[in-house]
Amino acid sequence: MRQIAAERMAPTAADLKKQQQQQRMADVPDLIVDRDRDVRYVKGKFLGKGGFAHCYELRNMATAELVAGKIVSKTLLTKQYQRDKMAQEVSIHRNLRHENVVRLFSFFEDHKNVYITLELCARRSLMELHKRRKAVTDPEARYFTVQVCRAVEYLHEKRIIHRDLKLGNLFLNDEMMVKIGDFGLATTVDEGERKRTLCGTPNYIAPEVLEKRGHSFEVDIWAIGCILYTLLFGKPPFETESLKDTYARIKTNTYRIPADAPTEAASLIRWLLAPEPAQRPSIRKASHTLEHSYFQGFTPRRLPVSCLSMPPKFN
Ligand code: ADP
Repeated sequence: MRQIAAERMAPTAADLKKQQQQQRMADVPDLIVDRDRDVRYVKGKFLGKGGFAHCYELRNMATAELVAGKIVSKTLLTKQYQRDKMAQEVSIHRNLRHENVVRLFSFFEDHKNVYITLELCARRSLMELHKRRKAVTDPEARYFTVQVCRAVEYLHEKRIIHRDLKLGNLFLNDEMMVKIGDFGLATTVDEGERKRTLCGTPNYIAPEVLEKRGHSFEVDIWAIGCILYTLLFGKPPFETESLKDTYARIKTNTYRIPADAPTEAASLIRWLLAPEPAQRPSIRKASHTLEHSYFQGFTPRRLPVSCLSMPPKFN
């Protein structure tokens, strides 16, 4: 008995982490004030948490408008490089205006937290849709991928690489429109420049990043290939039991397209997942992703919210 009591007394690492998280959540006030703009928000529903941020629905008290508030405790931003990284994310994101990119409205702080207000994406992300549905229908995959490509073309025209495109960063609003978010690993590139470093681990990491050959816009195109593959076939192309094996497969370009996959989809995926970055489609060349014949197939103009949990019926 005594031993059990003692075990109960000693907090595990997981308990401590939970306690810390609860502490941080308790530190988010119910009334949030942006003093610079003189805007007051009431904290609403908890939306989710990431590596650093807790996200809540915030209601503007004057206009009743709902936004997503990404809230980061200053206790997590004690090191200069953490603050620099966040400033870089905001400076890239705040100037973006595209219907398929999450809009960043404002950035402010109080003595405890840093706040970023964002366009609310109430239908979560393609990650949750994927977890419920696994493979989606070909028209749905096309519907989502077209919007991702439009957003990525916009970013690349502005010389921005997102570098962490993945299902969890493809948010959905109430109209089921895709909005690219989370610019935490994004960077800008100069003409002809190749980036040498990447602080963080992208989910759909491209071979040139793994091999530290220098990387650029093509890493986003690679990620779109992984996204389309995952949407169509229900699991990522290079998935294995271990990260080491997955990385080995990425480096050798080892993946299997199911034999019954639509020919156009298979051809586009092979192009997007070309091992050599220069061989992938690009907005810098005449060969754009969206010009591929895959996109001539039926693409619904809208999707019902019900497709978050079941396949839609197309008439
Ligand atoms: P971090 O940069 O710390 O990883 P994220 O950007 O991933 O934080 O955000 C954490 C979580 O908050 C997301 O997984 C998602 O559930 C939610 N979230 C983020 N942005 C929005 C948004 N614009 N609308 C709705 N929920 C959001």
